[in-house]
Amino acid sequence: MNKPKKRYGQNFLKSDAIIDKIINSIDFKNKIVIEIGPGRGALTKRLIKHAKHVYAFEIDESLKGCLNTLENSGNLIVIYKDILSINLDEFLKENNIDEALLIANIPYYITGPILFLINDSVLVKESVIMIQKEVGDRLLSEPGNKTYGSLTVLLGVKNDIHRVTNVKNTAFYPVPKVDSVVVKLVKTNRYLDLIQSESQFTEFVKAAFMQKRKTMLNNITNYYQIDKQIAEDKLSRIDKEFNSLERAENLSIERFIRYSNGWYND
Ligand code: SAM
Repeated sequence: MNKPKKRYGQNFLKSDAIIDKIINSIDFKNKIVIEIGPGRGALTKRLIKHAKHVYAFEIDESLKGCLNTLENSGNLIVIYKDILSINLDEFLKENNIDEALLIANIPYYITGPILFLINDSVLVKESVIMIQKEVGDRLLSEPGNKTYGSLTVLLGVKNDIHRVTNVKNTAFYPVPKVDSVVVKLVKTNRYLDLIQSESQFTEFVKAAFMQKRKTMLNNITNYYQIDKQIAEDKLSRIDKEFNSLERAENLSIERFIRYSNGWYND
């Protein structure tokens, strides 16, 4: 067997207890699964037992030796490509799939892009992903906490997010420096009808969090290059609760929606 490759973030899961927790958190009900980074197949061999079909994207062709035998199951196709070069919704449509479940033990260096790939996909309805504990804390955070940021808001606006289990670094080979967490994202889109424009919402949220130590008012003033008093008047008209000293990390998703809708309409 080849040595694990650092450049591909290869830390293979070796804990059966964690694999059980991941599998038990999923309601497979005849579903199509997209797996990112099957590696040596620790999760894949369990997924093919439950799912209707598994499409796994793996960047490292040298893992073919481990994955080829699993493909004999008949319901697994491994695609040796960089997941970040794939338009997931197009791939699913081309394969006549109108809904998919995504499972990934994600290499840490592409966590951000993969979270947004999940967020932007319309057809991925549910995801169970292993991520660095620190990123998990940000996803699961609430207003008023230091870990609450643009990632929390932008993913929280489309998904209900739950912790499946914490994972110690010793659950992997080789042992990484950091602990992990498995989270489940269920795409409820519960706020989408309230948002006038998704792209404007995203822009406003990123602007509000631009420099976390600054007030939202200062960040917004800098980003939109607008006079501070004019910005303050505008935000006060939009929301009676507006407080010029408030930081973005204190604002709920509902208040961000109110501000971004109002900001572009006022
Ligand atoms: N799922 C396996 C497990 O749990 O043991 C492997 C997890 S390992 C953390 C991440 C896997 O993702 C590796 O197999 C690596 O080669 C693969 N990978 C890294 N970057 C990738 C990319 N851009 N696209 C697809 N797979 C990638």
